[in-house]
Amino acid sequence: MRIRQAIIERTGGPEVIGWREVDLNDPGPGEVLLRHEAIGLNFIDTYHRSGLYPIELPGTLGLEAAGTVEAVGEGVSLSVGDRVATFGPNRAAYADAQVAAEASLFKVPDGIPLDVAAAILLKGLTTEMLAERVAPLAPGNWALVHAAAGGVGQLLVQWLAARGVRVIATAGSAEKRQRAVDLGAEVALDTGADDLAHQVREATGGAGVRASYDGVGKATWDASLKATGRRGIVASFGNASGPVSGVNLGSLASAGSLFVTRPTLFDYYREPDERAVGSGKLWSLVERGKLTVEIGQTYPLSEVAQAHRDLEGRKTVGSTILRP
Ligand code: NDP
Repeated sequence: MRIRQAIIERTGGPEVIGWREVDLNDPGPGEVLLRHEAIGLNFIDTYHRSGLYPIELPGTLGLEAAGTVEAVGEGVSLSVGDRVATFGPNRAAYADAQVAAEASLFKVPDGIPLDVAAAILLKGLTTEMLAERVAPLAPGNWALVHAAAGGVGQLLVQWLAARGVRVIATAGSAEKRQRAVDLGAEVALDTGADDLAHQVREATGGAGVRASYDGVGKATWDASLKATGRRGIVASFGNASGPVSGVNLGSLASAGSLFVTRPTLFDYYREPDERAVGSGKLWSLVERGKLTVEIGQTYPLSEVAQAHRDLEGRKTVGSTILRP
């Protein structure tokens, strides 16, 4: 099958994204041909494009896609017509279709549209990882969630609030802060405020939060440390504003014996049982209407460079999908 696929020859800004036509091989043993119906845009795609996370060049882009199985290889239990989604490890989502290992696919329940699956598989599993396993909190604990109106942020605010956690959200605009409040945050603060940590301390009666979930990185790292209470945990899970580097371990001691972790989805979802349990929780929350999924933007796949500009320019809200 001949398909269109995004390709980069060199790393750089969104303008480095080009296109090529390739013939896909028939699926081999354990593989399926997946026709994409919706592709999820993720911040990690911009790291692959920019070179922050090095990839082999020339390289393809995009981890998350949902669609239907069009052909199956030997020994596969999925059938033609099955609705599935993936978050990698194939970096081949920015395309009409891909050949993927069956083990890398999640069956999408009948009640969940493929657009929604592409909008939340990667971000929702990240949320499950953070809220249930990296830093699970008890009802009544305070948590700080940065970029709370973003893709992961919106899901994390709702997931934590549903557990009875008291959420302090940060976001870059009044509209985004309101969105976070509508989704369950008790307090919403301006990410760029000079005294952000002080405001978080005040909101928690001085104690600080039990956990800070920080996907913004460089710009919020200091505030996250200062806002986290004694023996609390800082989960630094992304670099939207640039990577955190040169952490002085002594600063964790003086801030009150803090724990810091840098989790990744690709580790927390390595084992088949972790994948089954985590995705089961995610689909169930969506099916029961407990998790509102906002697809804030939809772009034709051909305009993915603009989608990257908007995501990096903090112009997007919720999840973004690309239509092949
Ligand atoms: P988002 O939709 O959250 O977009 C990023 C948001 O970060 C922006 O909307 C913006 O919100 C905020 N931001 C703050 N400062 C900056 C800045 N200087 N430049 C750009 N954005 C800024 O993206 P995703 O939901 O795709 O991802 C969120 C984070 O989670 C990313 O860091 C990503 O890498 C990470 N991630 C990590 C995973 C893991 O396994 N560790 C898995 C999945 C995602 P605002 O305008 O409100 O400030």
